[in-house]
Amino acid sequence: MKDLRYLEGVATLKLDKDACVGCGMCQTVCPHRIFEVQDKKAVIMDFDACMECGACAQNCPADAISVTPGVGCASYLMAVWFSKLTGKKVESICC
Ligand code: SF4
Ligand code: SF4
Repeated sequence: MKDLRYLEGVATLKLDKDACVGCGMCQTVCPHRIFEVQDKKAVIMDFDACMECGACAQNCPADAISVTPGVGCASYLMAVWFSKLTGKKVESICC
């Protein structure tokens, strides 16, 4: 999804390559195609396209991925969109 971008360098996504077993689940579940498996290890291909949804970390069988869903740009952008749609100001749409 190259047309939807977020702020650069702020995503909380982290990958522990040593722990990765190369199963490919992160590549399968990520809606923005952030990961590719190369030489039996996951590689982050497009860090700044991560929306911090958490799907990769939840589905990684090796706990090789960490990300803090909802605290970064995705949450902020959703709050802005919600505000524009409804005319209501929101600090956060979480919880
Ligand atoms: S889901 Fe986890 S173990 Fe599987 S390829 Fe991705 S990072 Fe590696
Ligand atoms: S948190 Fe979501 S968007 Fe970011 S890499 Fe994981 S699955 Fe992809």
